[in-house]
Amino acid sequence: MKPFSFSKLVFATLFVLGFACPTHAGDKVKVVASFSILGDMVKNVGGDRVEVVELLGPDDDGHTYRPTPADAKTLAGAKIFFVNGLGFEGWIDRLEKSSGFQGKKVVATAGVKPRHHGGVDPHAWQRLDNGAIYVTNIRDGLIAADPDGKATYEANAKAYLEALEKANAAVKKALDAIPERRRLVITSHDSFGYFGDAYGLRFLAPEHVSTESEPSAKDVAKIIRQIRKEQIPAIFMENITNPVLMKQISSDTGATIGGMLYSDALSGPDGPAPTYIDMFKHNIETLTSALTSSS
Ligand SMILES: [Zn+2]
Repeated sequence: MKPFSFSKLVFATLFVLGFACPTHAGDKVKVVASFSILGDMVKNVGGDRVEVVELLGPDDDGHTYRPTPADAKTLAGAKIFFVNGLGFEGWIDRLEKSSGFQGKKVVATAGVKPRHHGGVDPHAWQRLDNGAIYVTNIRDGLIAADPDGKATYEANAKAYLEALEKANAAVKKALDAIPERRRLVITSHDSFGYFGDAYGLRFLAPEHVSTESEPSAKDVAKIIRQIRKEQIPAIFMENITNPVLMKQISSDTGATIGGMLYSDALSGPDGPAPTYIDMFKHNIETLTSALTSSS
């Protein structure tokens, strides 16, 4: 057989194989989401058509994350890269460059009204009406990259948006139970500002909107004074931060630990907050049970 006809045969074989298995699992749209909360939203909208890889898994802290060579490789093979934006992933430009990513980047917070608190606050997902903006951006990004899936993405997004709206109403209703004087909540870093704005609670934290630097002794002392002055009964830990500081503040002030809030990452599948909606349910239960238990 002459080399010419051999290569022709190979080409023909590949051509036939390519058409023979159009529904093979390998045909799913490969997308990457920067962190677990965003990844869950993408899964809800993408359904069976997409394969989602999350760079940051359960309980991971996105502020202090350092991408690995494996992350660069994962991103290089993706068609869409979903990111939060608002400065949450300070490591993203470097990763994008080093990976040679050729796909489309979708910023999920595009169109969100940013909150400022000593800098832009990136935790926009902590109010469910912002979550709805994330979902529309995800839907539009998926449709642009995979127009054949338009009807699927639109139907999935519609159902998910309805679920978010229902959850939002449930959150507001549940929080009505917390009396006005108990609506000051202490967490370890400033991740619940959007939540506070949306649902009428005030959050204070020794650490700012990023966990990048340790809280200063001055900031910790200020929180301790505030807890004593306002006789705050309970403070809360976060799944992504070291519990030592909050335990110290608890023992210094006599405020009890009211439980664990999920701020910047979901729990694992067996934990109490494996999805975006579950995260709200868990946080609301934790807050209401600690802040309404005694008067
Ligand atoms: Zn954070």
